[in-house]
Amino acid sequence: MGRQRMAEAGKAPKIVGTVAELRSAVADYRRAGETLGFVPTMGALHEGHIALVKQAQTLADRVVVSIFVNPTQFAPNEDFSRYPRTFDADVDKLAQAGCDLVYAPGREDMYPAGFSTGISIAGPAQGLESDFRPHFFSGVAIVVAKLLLQTAADVAVFGEKDYQQLRVVTQMARDLDLPVRIVPGPTVRESDGLALSSRNRYLTPEERTVAPVIHRALTTAAIAIKAGAVPDAAAAEAEATIARAGLKVDYVAARNAETLAPLASPDEPVRLLAAAWLGTTRLIDNIGV
Ligand code: AMP
Repeated sequence: MGRQRMAEAGKAPKIVGTVAELRSAVADYRRAGETLGFVPTMGALHEGHIALVKQAQTLADRVVVSIFVNPTQFAPNEDFSRYPRTFDADVDKLAQAGCDLVYAPGREDMYPAGFSTGISIAGPAQGLESDFRPHFFSGVAIVVAKLLLQTAADVAVFGEKDYQQLRVVTQMARDLDLPVRIVPGPTVRESDGLALSSRNRYLTPEERTVAPVIHRALTTAAIAIKAGAVPDAAAAEAEATIARAGLKVDYVAARNAETLAPLASPDEPVRLLAAAWLGTTRLIDNIGV
């Protein structure tokens, strides 16, 4: 990558809301010979997002963060309308982090009347989240493809927190020859193991004390697998632990860490993935073995 600019912490990022403004700002960077890193988000930013911004700063000269609560990845019965929107606080955090450019398009900018294009992905998009949120990856794919084409970033950082999403986006970028490098960012956790998530703020204080059981159960399963346990059996045990804590489990699964296919041989890389409801909040997490 090109020479790295020192990110200027505290300096307000430039904020743009249309593709034309975005492209004009990016063209200025390009004219100066600068490379561009990108972190797509739905806002309600926390330290997990900020860690991705910092990581992007080590990979590119300039960093753009998008804030867009993407309606196409929510089903009608999901939390689109109550999803937290904290734009001013988000911009403050991005200023502190030294983010250069915030891209916050409106719904009509992303999906003007008559929008008619879709992207369908098989492989890593099959199963897991898709069994419970069948609309989800088509929504993610179209918005991420658009954002990558709009920003024309050299590198985009996606959190391992949404591990299946990371694999799906990586697959899509490869299949469509998108000229961008997709880089994973490690999951940032609370001290008790709960993965940071914009949705954690939905949890009641009591639910918040229960929530770390997902990470604890996955960690126990990963240790057991490393010690020789059968991955599917360890995942079943983790599922039982999470259910005993009072969560309604959507899935706990041991999968091939790259393809997310069910495991077929003992020497495949393993990823443990889980999704469960705690009251009205759906939590997801995953861990490498
Ligand atoms: P979201 O705003 O939830 O769509 O997430 C935007 C990006 O931040 C995605 O790439 C997520 O995987 C990533 N992300 C969310 N939570 C975390 C976390 N706790 N640690 C690292 N990355 C995260």
